[in-house]
Amino acid sequence: MPHAVQVLNTHYITPDVIRLMVTKPDGWTATLGSSVRLAVPNVGLNNRWRPFSITSHPSDPILEFLIKIYEKKESVTALLASRVPGDTLLISNPFDGIDTNDVAFFIAAGTGVTPFLPILRHRSAKGLIDNEKLLLSSKTPADVICGHELRSLLGSNFVSLCTREADHRNRKGRVTESVIEEMMAAGNPRVAVCGPSQFVIDVCKFLNDLGLPRNLVVT
Ligand SMILES: Cc1cc2nc3c(=O)[nH]c(=O)nc-3n(C[C@H](O)[C@H](O)[C@H](O)COP(=O)(O)OP(=O)(O)OC[C@H]3O[C@@H](n4cnc5c(N)ncnc54)[C@H](O)[C@@H]3O)c2cc1C
Repeated sequence: MPHAVQVLNTHYITPDVIRLMVTKPDGWTATLGSSVRLAVPNVGLNNRWRPFSITSHPSDPILEFLIKIYEKKESVTALLASRVPGDTLLISNPFDGIDTNDVAFFIAAGTGVTPFLPILRHRSAKGLIDNEKLLLSSKTPADVICGHELRSLLGSNFVSLCTREADHRNRKGRVTESVIEEMMAAGNPRVAVCGPSQFVIDVCKFLNDLGLPRNLVVT
């Protein structure tokens, strides 16, 4: 059943990703790392619903989303970016995201990092970070989502690769089998992969070629 929530804040954190903060519906609970569908009511798109990961913690008083904006006609994300504080959005009940239990190696491209962020924040807050690694692919250093925060959570276990340009914190390059091999710990850790579908297909193939059993890869 949809709930109405109010926009608290939206602002760009990269050239095309916004942080959207909304109120939490009364009595509503979501598990860590779950997702919802959002819709913008009364704008002539028949309340078109789109899925997004919740990046805030279940105990937070508000809901946070990090959303890549597609500036095109009838794009729900473009509508979300143009909301102002006090506007109403519709939110579905939450549904489970990627099962990250025991995942020690996270591989993401762009907003594919969103389901991993609350997990890493939570493990860090509880002192449970234990050699977790994150490999994140972005276009340029300016496109790296929450790079500063991820570095403070994971230190050198956060590897940021940029396909188009580099700087002193972000290496130039793509996610390849050899980059994954460099980062993969011994002992077959569970690996979680999230991003555009071709990225997920490529990374799963690299992991398979590296001998990781398919049941240890979650997407
Ligand atoms: C479970 C789940 C969780 C998700 N969580 C997040 C999240 O936390 N943050 C997030 O940003 N996204 C997330 N997504 C993806 C998000 O749902 C889509 O990006 C969103 O639905 C796009 O809606 P839209 O109406 O703006 O674009 P649509 O019109 O629905 O466009 C659909 C798709 O077309 C492609 N596309 C559109 N415009 C362009 C363009 N100009 N150039 C190239 N390709 C284009 C994109 O792949 C886009 O996703 C999630 C998806 C799923 C399934």
